[in-house]
Amino acid sequence: TPTIGVLALQGDVREHRAALESAGARTIALRRENELETVDAVVIPGGESTTMSRLLRVFDLLDPLRSRLAEGMPAYGSCAGMILLASEVLDTRPDAEHLGALDITVRRNAFGRQVDSFEEDLDMTGIEGGPVRAVFIRAPWVERTGPGVEVLATVPTGRAAGRAVAVRQGAVFATSFHPEVGGDLRVHRLFVDAVRVHARSGR
Ligand code: GLN
Repeated sequence: TPTIGVLALQGDVREHRAALESAGARTIALRRENELETVDAVVIPGGESTTMSRLLRVFDLLDPLRSRLAEGMPAYGSCAGMILLASEVLDTRPDAEHLGALDITVRRNAFGRQVDSFEEDLDMTGIEGGPVRAVFIRAPWVERTGPGVEVLATVPTGRAAGRAVAVRQGAVFATSFHPEVGGDLRVHRLFVDAVRVHARSGR
């Protein structure tokens, strides 16, 4: 059973832990550097990316987390977590840090001020049994993907049609939306399975 650390500085930690445990993982609330050594993977929840970035520095987690990610540790970020995993972020604060685990450019709050939150049914690569009900809350979208990055889902219709909202680069995943709300475990299961495969491949 893999142990997954859910970054617990801010955001919807409890929902991710519940979803991951239902998907067959063991979880811990990750706050300290020494806890980072005990996990096989991390999840970065939704919340506020600039606040989480500041707290990562306050908790001395920024560099340790960066180096574990650089070694290839699996990770999954939803919404603010996507922003933190990205290599480049548009429309953020100049002092906001990100972790550079995904070769993507993300635009923060991309759906516009009027569009605070919305839901959409999305077909997602790797997810069987019908579309995922995706909940977007002041969500980012992905504007550029590097060569190693696979787009798993795009917005189907409307002004944002075609924008990438779920991506994967090896064992690092990110979604603009929040699969941890609403009880659909398939995205968390996809991630937990990828963590298991990664562990078996000898890391
Ligand atoms: N808009 C938030 C940010 O910039 C993300 C919102 C969310 O995680 N639901 O961090």
